[in-house]
Amino acid sequence: MSVETQKETLGFQTEVKQLLHLMIHSLYSNKEIFLRELISNASDAVDKLRFEALAKPELLEGGSELKIRVSFDKDAKTVTLEDNGIGMSREETIAHLGTIAKSGTADFLKNLSGDQKKDSSLIGQFGVGFYSAFIVADKVEVFTRRAGLAAGEGVHWASKGEGEFEIATVEKAERGTRIVLHLKSGEEEFADGWRLRNVIKKYSDHIGLPIELPKEFHGEEKDKPAEPEWEVVNRASALWTRPRTEVTDEQYQEFYKHVSHDYDNPLSWSHNKVEGKLEYTSLLYVPGRAPFDLYQREAPRGLKLYVQRVFIMDQADEFLPLYLRFIKGVVDSNDLSLNVSREILQKDPVIDSMKSALTKRVLDMLEKLAKNEPEQYKTFWKNFGQVLKEGPAEDFANKEKIAGLLRFASTAEGEGEQVVSLGDYVSRLKEGQDKIYFLTGESYAQVKNSPHLEVFRKKGIEVLLLTDRIDEWLMSYLTEFDGKSFIDVARGDLDLGSLDSEEDKKAQEEVAKSKEGLVERLKTALGEQVAEVRVSHRLTDSPAILAIGEQDLGLQMRQILEASGQKVPDSKPIFEFNPSHPLIEKLDAEPDEDRFGDLSHILFDQAALAAGDSLKDPAAYVQRLNKLLVELSA
Ligand code: ADP
Ligand code: MG
Repeated sequence: MSVETQKETLGFQTEVKQLLHLMIHSLYSNKEIFLRELISNASDAVDKLRFEALAKPELLEGGSELKIRVSFDKDAKTVTLEDNGIGMSREETIAHLGTIAKSGTADFLKNLSGDQKKDSSLIGQFGVGFYSAFIVADKVEVFTRRAGLAAGEGVHWASKGEGEFEIATVEKAERGTRIVLHLKSGEEEFADGWRLRNVIKKYSDHIGLPIELPKEFHGEEKDKPAEPEWEVVNRASALWTRPRTEVTDEQYQEFYKHVSHDYDNPLSWSHNKVEGKLEYTSLLYVPGRAPFDLYQREAPRGLKLYVQRVFIMDQADEFLPLYLRFIKGVVDSNDLSLNVSREILQKDPVIDSMKSALTKRVLDMLEKLAKNEPEQYKTFWKNFGQVLKEGPAEDFANKEKIAGLLRFASTAEGEGEQVVSLGDYVSRLKEGQDKIYFLTGESYAQVKNSPHLEVFRKKGIEVLLLTDRIDEWLMSYLTEFDGKSFIDVARGDLDLGSLDSEEDKKAQEEVAKSKEGLVERLKTALGEQVAEVRVSHRLTDSPAILAIGEQDLGLQMRQILEASGQKVPDSKPIFEFNPSHPLIEKLDAEPDEDRFGDLSHILFDQAALAAGDSLKDPAAYVQRLNKLLVELSA
């Protein structure tokens, strides 16, 4: 053992302590994953070294082959992992192995449910892989030296996973990191060549550098060489460089876990090699579930970027639009320069063409998933549908394609499940129907009984029910699908086109004429509150509704803008009444203008309530209603 200097004992950050506690006490269902985590870190460390060595070749220190070695000692009950990657300085060691640098740690700990399975997959998302060593070890030692630092600046880190760690400066001849796991009693099975080999094959076959184990020695103990012979146990070629036909589903899935930090399998993937003017390989995955920070602006997103097999950067978000930010994977380009930076990426026209090609790949992959695996697509929609809805506004060129991937609730499906595609809708159009009808609102419960739907129910016409916050905004970007325009049934003067027969239209005109007097009286009574009063043809059961002006903001948009503190342009609704409703007939026959006024206001307020709006003067409404009730019972 070499001399240790500047030895000190430091405490773990509180979050780390909580995590360690969780690791040690509840994550025992799948213990072998510690090896995957440590190998994944070693592989990242080698990637980082390769990258830094592009600018500073001297970091390679003579350039022995980059690799990972895993060894074990049955008697000492240890497993040792060694890499010759970038290594860590003393400060880096304290920062990386004593704290969790990632933002969102607090969120993470809040999200812990106590349910072991859920929590262990959360841990994956947060990439706190190193601490998983404590699942099998009751003491972990790390010997490391940052590439470029002198041999005397090695670091020895040690901890029992109980709240603190020791750190000291030591001599370390080789650059890189060696991790020694002192196995807990009961975990000795991991100090075994056969077991380690199997775990490595299972989880780390896709790692693009050699992982070596000592060769089994079968001779007499006295002939055993001091240095073992090593043999490579993984395939050691980057997975995406292999032909599709040679990669199994399991291998694709393991690779996904490596790049995404997800513990579950992806829903789908697409692996493509592009040749021609541009040359690149992409491997894109649709995750099986949404990360907790899908809606956080600063959340990491993007692909892992490689240039000619050399790792360049994580989270390269220039390759896909924002509305596809949930896609994980790698892209390996032959056209970009090895010293490409984020700044260059943002300007390079090569990126633009790659971005549009990759976007199309993803949309195609989603189309395929929807077509071939509708159940899986449902899962996808539940997790990422809201994000995909940002698409039509962001990506004009692919609007129609994205529209085809959207799913909605509709009057033709019960329970408000979002399962109807625009393709489904169009395939069920009524004879003479050339529009796609929709209604937006706050919740399924609110819209499903909306008076706006009465005429559609009567005529058996399907209406899409849009109740996500983003829907009204989405519909302002979607104007057409398959040549059919969208009509908001709560907006403007509903024209059912050829769905109304000539006789219908004639009858409607006649009724409108006969009610001109009532329209005028209502205009006077409601005054400033309404933009217009007219006879409605869309009501069967309700006495009246409020329609939104053709150009006015809908309720949802108004509420969103108001909530964000913006000034919202004033707009007045159109009051439409049902001429054959008994209440309207009563109103029409009311000679007393005061009572007429009260009744009109009550009808107006009721219509506002039915539309999900709040009343401007609820007290006045209650007063008028009570007055009526008193008169009734008198
Ligand atoms: P993640 O890999 O997601 O960053 P980990 O908990 O697995 O999280 O690792 C924490 C950090 O510790 C890494 O980001 C890296 O900076 C450092 N680290 C871990 N293992 C090594 C290693 N073998 N070589 C160099 N640095 C390492
Ligand atoms: Mg890691």
